[in-house]
Amino acid sequence: MTNTSSIRLYDLDLPVLERLLVRWGADRASARAVWRVIYRDAAVGVDQMTGLAPSLRSRLAAEVPLYVPTVLAREEAPDGETRKDLLEMEDGQRIEVVLLRYRDRRSACVSTQLGCACGCCFCATGQSGLVRQLSSGEIVAQVLHLQRELAARGERLSNLVLMGMGEPLLNYDETIAAIRRLADPRGMGFVQRRMTLSTVGIPPGIRRLAHEDLRIRLAVSLHAATDDLRDELVPINRRHRLDELFAAMREYVVRTGQRIMLEWVLIDEVNDTPQEAQALVDRLDGLAVHVNLIRLNQTQGYTGRASDPAAIDAFSAVLDRVGVPHTLRQRRGGAIAAGCGQLRRRNSPR
Ligand code: SAH
Ligand code: SF4
Repeated sequence: MTNTSSIRLYDLDLPVLERLLVRWGADRASARAVWRVIYRDAAVGVDQMTGLAPSLRSRLAAEVPLYVPTVLAREEAPDGETRKDLLEMEDGQRIEVVLLRYRDRRSACVSTQLGCACGCCFCATGQSGLVRQLSSGEIVAQVLHLQRELAARGERLSNLVLMGMGEPLLNYDETIAAIRRLADPRGMGFVQRRMTLSTVGIPPGIRRLAHEDLRIRLAVSLHAATDDLRDELVPINRRHRLDELFAAMREYVVRTGQRIMLEWVLIDEVNDTPQEAQALVDRLDGLAVHVNLIRLNQTQGYTGRASDPAAIDAFSAVLDRVGVPHTLRQRRGGAIAAGCGQLRRRNSPR
């Protein structure tokens, strides 16, 4: 195994790369050329940096290597619309990345942590705890892996959701650094509005995000609108009560002028009642949101069942009555356990 303590090329921002290359006697233009090859062409190694002096290429390879994860396994849903790759990181840890194909877009679902400490009862990731944080480079690497695969078929990633393993706002700096790197117009130029960060609802993180100059979308996994119920489903609620969460969301909406997406995984007879829908309506009090109703994907560690259609209709009707916009999210990847938020490290590292 290679040295995991040193910095990888994907971990660097462009200004840092520029300073490094200038220190090595090269110029900023060379740094920008490297950046383009890495992010625009999704290069797998310095060999593809043909415009660069061979000495510079070998120094890069020796001191800030480009680490590209190895694909250990691939599963494709029978309809071909969802694909899941098992990637191995440099320290042997494994992450699954998901590619979702829609008619008009290609979306990547990536992870921000290995595992998660939040312990939401219905979530496969939460059931196994936090293993470690991912570096910004490891987050970026997942996206570039999928982009590379798509480019080989003349396609391009259009959307990104940070909805794989982990809680992005509990790995704040690395997550934001990865977003900025991917969005840099001198490289990949990922459209910020097509990136969605999904959080379990960490109020200090939401406030901080509101003050970044980013135009990404924010999704908050609410699942319940009363503290008692949310305490059960989403244990972090015991630390950050709904009042605090809603105050942070209000600040976010006021500051960014953006609507927040509220995620609500519907669980039969748990949070799918008209009463719970009414509690949500009462809490919103004019807050600009769009509610995403999501069918529960069954996981091994949780006995709850997905809601039946009649319950979903009754829940939706309450939202409709007061004009709260909502959609029932299409279920994707169920056949290969690739629903976002469903990813779990199944094999132990070597
Ligand atoms: N930690 C963040 C992002 C990762 S989870 C968060 O909680 O938002 C991404 C989404 O998948 C969340 O909305 C989460 O509630 C949802 N999810 C988790 N387990 C699920 C399951 N078994 N069925 C359906 N959705 C699930
Ligand atoms: Fe963590 Fe999100 Fe899963 Fe909750 S739903 S355990 S916050 S990954």
